[in-house]
Amino acid sequence: MEKKALQTALVHSDYTPPEGFAAFPAAIHHASTILFKNVAALRSGDWKEKNAYTYGLHGTPTTFTLEARIAEIEGGERCLLAPSGLAAIAMIDFAVLKTGDDILLPDNIYNPNRVLGNWLQEAFNITARYYDPMIGAGIAQMIQPNTKLIWTEAPGSVSMEVPDLRAICAAAKEKGVLVALDNTWSAGLALRPFELGVDISMQALTKYQSGGSDVLMGAVITRDRELHEKIANSHMRLGLGVGADDAYLVMRGLPTMKLRFEAHDAGALKVAAWLKQRPEISRMLHPAFEDCPGHEVWKRDFTGAGGLFSVLFDARFSEEQTDRFVDSLRLFKIGYSWGGANSLCIPYRIQAMRRNWQDGGTLVRFYIGLEDPADLIADIEQALARM
Ligand SMILES: *Cc1c(COP(=O)(O)O)cnc(C)c1O
Repeated sequence: MEKKALQTALVHSDYTPPEGFAAFPAAIHHASTILFKNVAALRSGDWKEKNAYTYGLHGTPTTFTLEARIAEIEGGERCLLAPSGLAAIAMIDFAVLKTGDDILLPDNIYNPNRVLGNWLQEAFNITARYYDPMIGAGIAQMIQPNTKLIWTEAPGSVSMEVPDLRAICAAAKEKGVLVALDNTWSAGLALRPFELGVDISMQALTKYQSGGSDVLMGAVITRDRELHEKIANSHMRLGLGVGADDAYLVMRGLPTMKLRFEAHDAGALKVAAWLKQRPEISRMLHPAFEDCPGHEVWKRDFTGAGGLFSVLFDARFSEEQTDRFVDSLRLFKIGYSWGGANSLCIPYRIQAMRRNWQDGGTLVRFYIGLEDPADLIADIEQALARM
């Protein structure tokens, strides 16, 4: 290269590091612009084929690597990343729905998914109808000719009913309707969605995959190539790129995810077993306990449970009292989301969230972190005493 002006040298460099560098972490590639060798390479690039690089939005070696890893863990073929779990949900809806279509959602779906469904109905003339999460094969009676997508979540957010995915998927398949699963609770470890007949699996990587309470990301995993392409179009049209540093943070959590999940699971079982025998608690909404609707389905389809469960306080306790219980906790912090090392607790007004909720009493959701379960139990015990 000829001699450059200092200003040009500040912008351009001919240096390339030596070949042959190897290390365990995936490299972090930051890029909006991706460079082409020549115009022919520019013209031949197809952003949908993940064997070439075209623009930062469509992927770098960092995001391609995370996508491949998540697809493999979930038991799928292809994966697309989105900047949050909720963005992944929206990417699915916009990929497969159009005006005049109908979607079915379980009454216990992750609430922002419900807000999105209701917005699709108001703004795009797509009907969003809600079904009892325990409906099983009965979903067949709800499917209309214009039903295009059935959302499922296993177990459902907050109230934790475990749906019969096999029965729902079989009924959907018979009528040619797609089934999407929000598989965040199981982290893709304790439930194998594609073996049950699910078409689209979605993960909030924000939770166990990251494990750090420090990053938002979502993933959509499929096996069918045509379906993947539809979702890839949605990914592109909505511009759902993710940052390389965030992808790195999620990848950093993967090697320890199963060990963490099993520790959360064991801790949650201990805390839940202790809570269950307390007179203040009327129902244990943890899929591994018989109180939980769908417990038998959980035993059949799942290999674990992780750290998230809910309880119902006996109706003799007022909301003021259960709020005092939550405020009195010291190790458990109050906050949304979960999947990190710290235990969390949140009260929900479940009667206002569900159409046919029968039980009285306040629902409180626990997320069991990686603290010693004995200390968590002691914390709950002192908070119950203050209630
Ligand atoms: C957290 C969560 C989401 C959304 O993930 P974000 O990254 O927070 O947008 C979706 N579904 C379930 C079941 C979740 O727990």
